[in-house]
Amino acid sequence: MDVSEDLLSRARALVGSQGQPLVARHAVGTAAIADWCDAMGDDNPCYTDPEYAAKSVHGGIVAPAATLDIWVRPGLPAQSPSGRRGDDPQSKVIALLEAEGFVGVVAVNSELEIERYLRPGEVLQGVQVLEDVSEEKQTGLGTGHFLTTRTRYSTTDGEHVGDLLFRILKFKPGTGSAPKGEDSDTPKPPPSDPSMRPRPAINRDNQALWDGYRRHELRVPQCRSCKRVFFPSSPRCAECGSFDMGYLVASGKGALYSHVVVNYPQVPGFAYPIPVGLIELEEGPRMVADLVGVTREQLAIGMPLEVEWLDSHPALEPGATDSQGPITLPRFRPATPQRRPETRRAAEVSEGEQLPIWVLPVTPTRITAGALSTRDFQDVHHDRDLAHKKGSADIFFNINTSIGLMERYVTDWLGPEVLVRALRVKLGAPAYPYNPLTFTGSVTSIDTGSGRAVVEVTAKNKLGSHINGTVEVELPR
Ligand SMILES: [Zn+2]
Repeated sequence: MDVSEDLLSRARALVGSQGQPLVARHAVGTAAIADWCDAMGDDNPCYTDPEYAAKSVHGGIVAPAATLDIWVRPGLPAQSPSGRRGDDPQSKVIALLEAEGFVGVVAVNSELEIERYLRPGEVLQGVQVLEDVSEEKQTGLGTGHFLTTRTRYSTTDGEHVGDLLFRILKFKPGTGSAPKGEDSDTPKPPPSDPSMRPRPAINRDNQALWDGYRRHELRVPQCRSCKRVFFPSSPRCAECGSFDMGYLVASGKGALYSHVVVNYPQVPGFAYPIPVGLIELEEGPRMVADLVGVTREQLAIGMPLEVEWLDSHPALEPGATDSQGPITLPRFRPATPQRRPETRRAAEVSEGEQLPIWVLPVTPTRITAGALSTRDFQDVHHDRDLAHKKGSADIFFNINTSIGLMERYVTDWLGPEVLVRALRVKLGAPAYPYNPLTFTGSVTSIDTGSGRAVVEVTAKNKLGSHINGTVEVELPR
């Protein structure tokens, strides 16, 4: 018997075994809920506003459905004095696999089923059963084993509150299949590092605009005499003839007036195809800028947009504010959908209805805040050096952040008092920093009798599909 067969038989001997109940160290609490809301950008008042929550369907503050599995987590075990580590069957299999070099880890599936919402002060416990350890499989990340567990959550009084089916892949870094598209037939696209773009010509007429961009302030030229706003900058007002030019700080909001998609010629500094928009700003003038987080198919005339900033070029000369200085470019993404203040009724929702596109910038801060607010201290979600060592290109979203964002996307659209009954996610491409995630969704079923609805959600980035998920909800009838 070789090492891997021995490993597999030892790991598989644990299938069906159940861990000791893992009891949360702390009760469900309002501070932790508020941190979660900040990290997800979820402003649902049922989670944080006691007065609103008291009058809501919940009768008081509740924890978001997506937090079900965070409360019993052990904290930061490696650093803690007691070295807390679960004795659950998953941890035992992980220890076996890590001893054989399967040190990489990614979550693959997570399915939360919510019996009822949790309230501050409740102490949870989870009992985990190991459902499966797969044969060794070759995956894009490396050879590895899939581990499937099911955890039943209850209060310490024994009341069942929900369940989690969870699947992870433990893999050997550096054993992944070769990335596709490296064959010699395919012409290589030029490097897309934005600092390779030509630097803009900065002169006396447009200096104030570029100074504003560096401060992430969208300045629009304005005539000081007649107050006309216009684009592009000009030394003289075309309306009244004045040479007294100033600027207005625009809101950064606008609508898509027209667009083209640039495919060719391909020059360094850009990732092709490039959707380019003519954006009509709220203040009136139209400007040209790149569009981000949106595909050609998703472009629609009139779609609401908002500015975002690309710090594209470092300074060539310290302190320079002309073309040799640091350059920041305005670009536009679909406007963040607004949270609906009133909850929709089942009869108002129809099958096939589309959710508005949501483009979320992904930053190291968001990744780290998401992981810590879901009490996930795995280093690959906050420590770039260790993420590299474990075979990952960078830190990446933990699955609870992806699920929390998916919950926010759907509940923002349906309203604060919609009840989330299940959150199911299949994870694909990792969400790394600086790759915006584009969420889309649609209602796949609605039962006006029970108020039950299913919303399908995908979140994609340039690497592919990050999540494919469903949110099962119950709407007021
Ligand atoms: Zn004028």
